[in-house]
Amino acid sequence: MIDTTVDNHIHTRLCHHARGELEEYVLSAINKGLRKIFFLEHLEVGIDYFESTWLTDDDFAYYHAEGKRLREKYRDEISIGLGVEVGYNPRCVTEIEQRLALQTWDRIGISYHFLETDSGHLNMVSSKQINIDRLDQYGIDDVLDRYYKDLMDAVKKLPGQVLCHIDAALRHHPKAKLKPSHHALLDELLDLVADKNMYLEVNTSGYKTKGEPYPSLTILKKAVKRNIPLVAGSDAHCPEDVGRYFDRLPGLMEKIIDRGQVADGV
Ligand SMILES: [Zn+2]
Ligand SMILES: [Zn+2]
Repeated sequence: MIDTTVDNHIHTRLCHHARGELEEYVLSAINKGLRKIFFLEHLEVGIDYFESTWLTDDDFAYYHAEGKRLREKYRDEISIGLGVEVGYNPRCVTEIEQRLALQTWDRIGISYHFLETDSGHLNMVSSKQINIDRLDQYGIDDVLDRYYKDLMDAVKKLPGQVLCHIDAALRHHPKAKLKPSHHALLDELLDLVADKNMYLEVNTSGYKTKGEPYPSLTILKKAVKRNIPLVAGSDAHCPEDVGRYFDRLPGLMEKIIDRGQVADGV
């Protein structure tokens, strides 16, 4: 089952593309009756991109100080985890490890947002036309191939507890579709996630854009077959989105299990 009293993925204004102070997110979570939240702020290293969507060292220093203050202030009402969503960059693994080692994290989530190209990085999870065009230039099938191969490296090398939005590169490009070769990579990746006893995130931001969570039922079914625990993350970028669509998750779980039974001929 998915614990719907915990939101495992929350951003704040510190990442430069979200709105609201940490405290506003905490208050929203309390209002919605959540038992626990994990802030999961963006750490990226060595990315050549036209805007910064991640925190600086100074931002992280503030984040930890303010997070700890709020943890004390609201300790009787909610549990607050200070985590990080670390974006993979195959060229900067050592530096990423060094940056992670500077702080104690309650949760490390692994993501892969930025793909290196000849003309800088492209943001694979962005809906901006400039990124869609660059996905086209690179070739969407090749992007998906790269995405899953690199994500396997990320899971092998980085000390993460949860894999975030595993189908992120499929989000916005109209022709992004998993071919059999991608499914094979995905299977291998999920085997690794299971071997490392990591969680897989059910990212409910998908309900807003496509009426179902990220990742799709097909992928969630693969995860459940491997006994990978699922955790819920709103990926909130504004306080009111904390815990969004969590009421749909029990029904989702039923669908995942139903589908498994049909596929297995039970
Ligand atoms: Zn992300
Ligand atoms: Zn996020």
